[in-house]
Amino acid sequence: MIPRWLLEADRRGLPATEVAVLVVGSGVAGLSTALELPPELPVLLATKARLASSATRYAQGGIAAVLAADDSPGDHWADTMTAGAGLCDPEAVRVLVSEGAAAVRRLQRLGASFDLEGGRLALTIEGGHSRRRIVHAGGDATGAEVERALAGAVRSAPNVTIAERTFLVDLVTEGGEATGAVLWSAGDAGGPRLVRAGAVVLASGGAGQLYASTTNPALSTGDGIAAALRAGATLADLEFVQFHPTALHLDSDPRPLISEAMRGEGAVLRDQRGAEVMAGVHPRGDLAPRDVVTRGMAARMAELGVDHLFLDATGVPAARLELRFPTILARCRAAGVEPTRDWIPVSPAAHYLMGGVLTDLDGRSSLPGLYAVGEAACTGVHGANRLASNSLLEGLVFAARIARAIPAAVPGRWSDAGTPAGEPFPLAQAAPDQRARDSRVAAGGGDRRIDGVRGQLRRLMTGRAGVLRSHDGLAAAAAGIIGLSGRLESVTAAGGRERWEVANLLQIGAALTRLAANREESRGAHSRSDHPEPVEAWRLRQVVTRRPDGGLDQGTIEVPAPEEARR
Ligand SMILES: Cc1cc2nc3c(=O)[nH]c(=O)nc-3n(C[C@H](O)[C@H](O)[C@H](O)COP(=O)(O)OP(=O)(O)OC[C@H]3O[C@@H](n4cnc5c(N)ncnc54)[C@H](O)[C@@H]3O)c2cc1C
Repeated sequence: MIPRWLLEADRRGLPATEVAVLVVGSGVAGLSTALELPPELPVLLATKARLASSATRYAQGGIAAVLAADDSPGDHWADTMTAGAGLCDPEAVRVLVSEGAAAVRRLQRLGASFDLEGGRLALTIEGGHSRRRIVHAGGDATGAEVERALAGAVRSAPNVTIAERTFLVDLVTEGGEATGAVLWSAGDAGGPRLVRAGAVVLASGGAGQLYASTTNPALSTGDGIAAALRAGATLADLEFVQFHPTALHLDSDPRPLISEAMRGEGAVLRDQRGAEVMAGVHPRGDLAPRDVVTRGMAARMAELGVDHLFLDATGVPAARLELRFPTILARCRAAGVEPTRDWIPVSPAAHYLMGGVLTDLDGRSSLPGLYAVGEAACTGVHGANRLASNSLLEGLVFAARIARAIPAAVPGRWSDAGTPAGEPFPLAQAAPDQRARDSRVAAGGGDRRIDGVRGQLRRLMTGRAGVLRSHDGLAAAAAGIIGLSGRLESVTAAGGRERWEVANLLQIGAALTRLAANREESRGAHSRSDHPEPVEAWRLRQVVTRRPDGGLDQGTIEVPAPEEARR
């Protein structure tokens, strides 16, 4: 699917440049990594849209961190472990919760302005948390504020070159190490670029676009995860996809999210008859972990034969709603719903990918030279189900750790502040015959057949590999993906961003359905109608790698016992 000539770009004399570190993606994870790296290391930050385009900027509820006097890392650890349903890596969670407060303070020092109450950080609560520990900004516009603060700081970092509208096509490996990437820049001086790097950091986000109904923006197509798979890195936990219970029930892409924090402030899920959906389902009721609420809703919707339920926020004082949720209120009003008076129609939507590129606690993947952070990574902190507001936190905490680990790992020539070798980025125009080929490749985008494959894949995944799964459904999804991959191959256009994105989604979809079919139990976000209970023997994480012939090899890794890590 990736044109062979592109992958052989270096041999064909493409202009090449070198940087110490290539960071792919400009959400919380990529921006934080670029910023935290030592200023003497030249960094290229490549991002496929504008700098501020990311899932990060849609984040509403906030960032979970231990900041209150009545809270402790142990409590945050316990809540995260409980949500993760036995599959969290206890040590990774310990790192997350113990380094979280410092990460929030760093953001404040960069100028991020969080909401205050009585002069102190205002803290709210979301599903699965036993304490009020979630900081937020602009009421429900936390991600936008985080993105604003980080992007501003990165723009003024002299060692960081920003390449917008620059797409990671594939990673380059030599001798079993990641040594760079083929990037594709849009625009007049655009075309393929070969970037050699001492370290490559994938911060390219999740893959919510695998599903027809998602809160994720159009750019969440799992490009970095798929590129890592093709390059030989190990992926983990891909079968765990979190569905957010309360997306506004609209036929839009993405679906606007109604933050869990609204339930934290007292809103209640109701069915068409007015009955409370979560009453008697879980001791924490509307604030049960997300997978529990999503399943509770799915069961009620099936029972009543309806495609949505309601969130009743009319019991929350109107002034409080206006203060805390200005963005959500505006979106509801645009759809003709007045939350201070009306129940809000809601239904679950794909929201977060717990799996990704398997990393250690410093973001190293199994492929030397390749790091991953944020939603593209699988550090083990989320297990089978992410605790609300732990993902911005994960991006911040692990970006700082990667930035501390990389200087010792990049080749010595960078340690004394070298100038980038080769040409500066963006590189000079390619030769005329190269440009002709490039424009044919770029023209591959916008093809209706490619859009058709993307749409069919998304419907297939929603119907067969979504909230409720079964052996037969997953087998149908796997077969469908093979058929759709064939159809994509037959589209004659050579490439283009749209085509590469669909190819990436198909590759992740194939690995995801494989792991979901193997896991014959229900755990966390993975629910099987044919295996409805958790099975102790499945308290294992699944990993997957790609063989040189394109097939997938799968395996399992043990989850350390929680007691060992807590000591
Ligand atoms: C609506 C919504 C609300 C949320 N609310 C919260 C919340 O309140 N709290 C919380 O903790 N989490 C929340 N989340 C989850 C959280 O926002 C994400 O998990 C997190 O922001 C991911 O950050 P990231 O940097 O890993 O990826 P992203 O923010 O998705 O950034 C990925 C970046 O990579 C770039 N990219 C992707 N592919 C390529 C490519 N091929 N080449 C070059 N660049 C590429 C993208 O353009 C983008 O800049 C929410 C998510 C959504 C969608």
